[in-house]
Amino acid sequence: MEKFHTNTVVIGAGAVGLAIAKNISYQNKEIIILEKEGKIGQITSSRNSGVIHAGIYYKSNTLKSKFCVEGNQLIYAYAKKFGIPHINTKKIIVAINDAQMEKIFKIKDQAKSNGVENLEILNQNQIKILEPLIKNVGGLLVPSTGIIDQHSLMQSYLGEFENNGGMISYNSIVTKILIENNKFAIEVHDNKNNKTIIICDYLINAAGIFASDIANNIDGLQKKYVPVTYLAKGNYFSLNKKLPINHLIYPVPENISLGIHLTLEIDNSIKFGPDAEWVDDPYDYSVNEGLKTKFYNSIKQYLPDIKEDMLFPSYAGLRPMTSKEDKSKRDFTISTSDDHKIKNLINLYGIESPGLTSSLAIAKYVEKRI
Ligand SMILES: Cc1cc2nc3c(=O)[nH]c(=O)nc-3n(C[C@H](O)[C@H](O)[C@H](O)COP(=O)(O)OP(=O)(O)OC[C@H]3O[C@@H](n4cnc5c(N)ncnc54)[C@H](O)[C@@H]3O)c2cc1C
Repeated sequence: MEKFHTNTVVIGAGAVGLAIAKNISYQNKEIIILEKEGKIGQITSSRNSGVIHAGIYYKSNTLKSKFCVEGNQLIYAYAKKFGIPHINTKKIIVAINDAQMEKIFKIKDQAKSNGVENLEILNQNQIKILEPLIKNVGGLLVPSTGIIDQHSLMQSYLGEFENNGGMISYNSIVTKILIENNKFAIEVHDNKNNKTIIICDYLINAAGIFASDIANNIDGLQKKYVPVTYLAKGNYFSLNKKLPINHLIYPVPENISLGIHLTLEIDNSIKFGPDAEWVDDPYDYSVNEGLKTKFYNSIKQYLPDIKEDMLFPSYAGLRPMTSKEDKSKRDFTISTSDDHKIKNLINLYGIESPGLTSSLAIAKYVEKRI
């Protein structure tokens, strides 16, 4: 059995693990990323909407609101600097009746208190001019929302990390972690089940939907510090033709999802979703064709010209959530030795939306604590 020593290990090469590894690679030349898949970003980081969120819905003073607003600015600046394909599409939240318009005023207030700027209440005619196909009684224009090619973004994070001397090991499944003499001994299996032990001083668990499973396999970490990760599946349907729509269009949000919204790809093609359903299987990404009618009924409320047979099942992603019932607990959880008392260990739980937008802000936060 082979044994290696390195200073820092990051588990997970999604947008968050890569952003953290890249940030700390400027100070630390001995970092290994362990990734169970054969490529970067194969799990949640490639199964999302690719939206650069503004940070409007989240409760004030939560990690989500703070990281999203800061991350939004950091991502635009990063994308410009490194030539990552992105579009500042802006977004319109549309009300389809007066009761929803009331909610839109409340969303605007919440967004303002989170530090989101230049929000604008629009009336029906103003929205008709911007988006003639969209039915509405009014809405909210959010200028800082956009879209980004998440694969190019992650590739760029990886490029910076590797240029700084960082190493990534693919097909490397972390199964167990022991703590010996203040160091972590990480058991890693490859896809032929060969075992390697990596010893490191600092450990960052950015394993997304599997972060709680990994933390539960850290010998010495008390279970009370490991939240349960629940999975909320989000399905997408795509549209079989392009339409002249330029903004992202969101209905007034529902309980766990933002409602079945319309987002654009970089090539201007249209997709709808995600919806939200609690699931148990972390490997099932199939999209049930039977959901089409539910999608159609939601979408036609704001896009009446659409026909059900224009929709096609596309893909699905799984949101890691740390609570099913209590919305207020659905914040990102970044657990350090301040809580669990194990030095040099950081676990990231519940990094659901807006984790992609927040990736650079999360990386800054973790970098300061390492
Ligand atoms: C449906 C949906 C829509 C979303 N839309 C948006 C959006 O529009 N905008 C936005 O900002 N955010 C969005 N998000 C959230 C965003 O996608 C995530 O917050 C972000 O991708 C999380 O990145 P991550 O690196 O934490 O996790 P992941 O991308 O899941 O990366 C974790 C990595 O850890 C690896 N790993 C797991 N277990 C092990 C192990 N035992 N050993 C080694 N490696 C392991 C995995 O293979 C994976 O590559 C959305 C999420 C979903 C599900």
